Amino acid sequence: MSRPLLMIPGPIDVTDEVLAAMSRPVFSHVDPAFITIFGQVLKDTRTIFQVGDDYQPFVVAGSGTLAMDSAVANLVEPGDRVLVIETGYFGRRMADICQRYGGEVDMLVAAPGDTISAEQVAIQLQQADYDLVALTHVDTSTGVVTDAQGIAAAANDAGALIIVDGVCATAAEEMRQQDWGVDVYLTASQKAIGLPPGLALWVVSPSGLAKWRERTTPVGSYYSDWSLWLPIMESYEGLRPSYFATPPVNLVVALHTSLQQILQEGVEEVYTRHRLMSDAVKAGVSAMGMGQVPTAADHAAHTLTCPRFPAGVNAGLLGHVRANGAILAGGLHPMIKTEYFRIGHMGAVSANAILATLGAVETGLRQSGYAVEPGISLAAAQAVLAEH
Ligand code: PMP
Repeated sequence: MSRPLLMIPGPIDVTDEVLAAMSRPVFSHVDPAFITIFGQVLKDTRTIFQVGDDYQPFVVAGSGTLAMDSAVANLVEPGDRVLVIETGYFGRRMADICQRYGGEVDMLVAAPGDTISAEQVAIQLQQADYDLVALTHVDTSTGVVTDAQGIAAAANDAGALIIVDGVCATAAEEMRQQDWGVDVYLTASQKAIGLPPGLALWVVSPSGLAKWRERTTPVGSYYSDWSLWLPIMESYEGLRPSYFATPPVNLVVALHTSLQQILQEGVEEVYTRHRLMSDAVKAGVSAMGMGQVPTAADHAAHTLTCPRFPAGVNAGLLGHVRANGAILAGGLHPMIKTEYFRIGHMGAVSANAILATLGAVETGLRQSGYAVEPGISLAAAQAVLAEH
């Protein structure tokens, strides 16, 4: 039997080309061929994040949490006032990291499935002199997408820096870091970027770099300190050998392949395709009679769908769906964990994979004792796909 589809919101199935790139013989980290590849990866990262040459990309061994840690460790000094927007599990993590580095944290917390608007943030920014605002572009625990553009504009108006956690959004949800005025946009390799887990990526604006240079206290983390990583990134881009900590060479080579695949398709086309796949899954979920965690369609993310279990069905459904060929994820938001499940649809996910997944869910629902007409979700999804 073929292996099940990995349809969780990260890590995701990767393309055959990325798998092949991973299995190339290991490079020395100072091999001129590897230096050239790393240099190109940094340039391609700028293109995908839509920033100019004065923005600095970092690509470092670690997970998304390292990217969050690094952004905060370098930009928050003890006593800085930070406003964290929490739209789920990962906002809470961001607040914890800010507190760990001495930030005085205030939070705007959305009810599960809700978002926080740019207007709410603008009002809060009048209450105190904030140094920094942080938000999660797509919170993977709720499937909520937040108005990063509007909130970044509010932060810029208030003279605060802004960090956006794009781990579940990069290369899938519309994002223009420079136009939107985002100081750090951060992500990880295992979602729409299309790699296995293992790389943290973040891009810093000129104002973010300036604030970091003006620090009066040392960065409280050794591995996250930009002063150790910046010369390395500059060297790779300048095609010079360098060393601080050994890069995961095979992952960097695979990243080169996946970024090239994204650029060949076109960043705008990639956004459109994610929208289409998401619309198809959401239509299928609705056709099966399930609600979703996001409280309105206009703040439902396009990288994952969070269906609510129908009455009488629980997480046992996921075992059936897995046996039917698709691996899905359970709930993550602590307040509603048992009430919903999550379907990821990022990266090179195909329409066929989506239809197979919906079919596996339909059958699983029937096996769980919930009556659903065979094929009803497939018809709804196919109608969406056919419109395009
Ligand atoms: N932020 C978001 C929005 C995420 O989805 C995740 C991972 N699911 C993280 C941060 C943390 O990333 P990692 O698990 O790679 O450390």
